[in-house]
Amino acid sequence: MPELPEVQNFAQSIHSNYVGKKFKNIVFHRDNLRYPFEKEKLERIFASGNEFLNCYREGKQIILETSSGAVKVSLGMTGAFKAANQSDVEKHQHVTLNFKNGESLAFVDPRRFGFWKICESNEQKETSCDPLLEKDLLKLFLSETVKNKNISVKDMLMDQKLIGGIGNIYALEALFLAGILPTTRCVDLSILKWKSLAKEIPIILNLAINLGGSSISTYRSFKGDKGSFQNLHKVYGRENEKCLKSGCQGYIKRIAQSGRSSWFCPVCQF
Ligand SMILES: [Zn+2]
Repeated sequence: MPELPEVQNFAQSIHSNYVGKKFKNIVFHRDNLRYPFEKEKLERIFASGNEFLNCYREGKQIILETSSGAVKVSLGMTGAFKAANQSDVEKHQHVTLNFKNGESLAFVDPRRFGFWKICESNEQKETSCDPLLEKDLLKLFLSETVKNKNISVKDMLMDQKLIGGIGNIYALEALFLAGILPTTRCVDLSILKWKSLAKEIPIILNLAINLGGSSISTYRSFKGDKGSFQNLHKVYGRENEKCLKSGCQGYIKRIAQSGRSSWFCPVCQF
């Protein structure tokens, strides 16, 4: 499932390649993804002559803003954007945005858990914390609602209502860098550890954004490559391998936690 770095990678690529261009039309290659397409409204937003004004990430979703409105796109489990060609439609390509200059942008989603939803002008903005901002993270972590929670720090990090866009991979990698066991209860963490965690999360996410994300299963970046952050995973998927922290003699362990795998070093994470 795409996490923040993968979503950010698509938003940046779309922004730099298409913003400022004029649409020709939107073409649907089926009637629904997770939900049915609101075709008439989408056709108005991407109508001929409308300008592509902005593309950015909000939480784990991508906002496409045109001169006639805005759409929120969720990548679901396997959604991806890619540059396309107006004459060919590939397998699992469900939506195509065509531009006046002959270019096209395709939305591909083999498992079809993604969605395209119209942004209503009176809609509330996402209220979850943006994990690229250390200051905001620290404020959240030290708030009464989080600091006193009796759930594990990893489950808290992955709660999308609190923080937008951290999933299993980046939660575990950040906890490793901050020297925190994923099973530690929020209420038991010291202020020093919270500070360290707030510092490491934006560092790891920015590194992953620059490397095009992690390719686990079907993810491909906008350029169609697999991203290369997975080569830098220090704990994720490394069961029984040696800990990569310099001087540490530990071996990475895997446990099941809240229905998913957690990897950590039992020596330097506590
Ligand atoms: Zn270690």
